[in-house]
Amino acid sequence: MSGRPETAALEPCPFCGAPLTIRAGVNAYGRCDTEGCWVASRAIIVPFDDPKQVVAWNTRAPTDLERELADHIAEQITHVEQRIRDGREMGASIWRIALEDVARENRALLAKVRARDGGANG
Ligand SMILES: [Zn+2]
Repeated sequence: MSGRPETAALEPCPFCGAPLTIRAGVNAYGRCDTEGCWVASRAIIVPFDDPKQVVAWNTRAPTDLERELADHIAEQITHVEQRIRDGREMGASIWRIALEDVARENRALLAKVRARDGGANG
């Protein structure tokens, strides 16, 4: 028996995005070693021999911002697909208008995200 843990089984740290450091051997576990990371500062570990903890680590809930961004991306895809259909009927000038719309909507969202990022944490 190798005892080598399946390192690919753990997602990166949800707080800092870094891949986990793996301690192999008996009672193998993954942990975040990023200086200043909330997870690392609390010495949280994810034991490989506890499937519940591995699943919990890998299925953390998305943040409100991640949900909002995903909704926005889905809207943009629908919007662009509709404009592509419209463009086939209406001619080439529709493409410029469509791209200007997409850029404007994304600038608005980016401003919102940046305002939140620079504002008070809630
Ligand atoms: Zn981390």
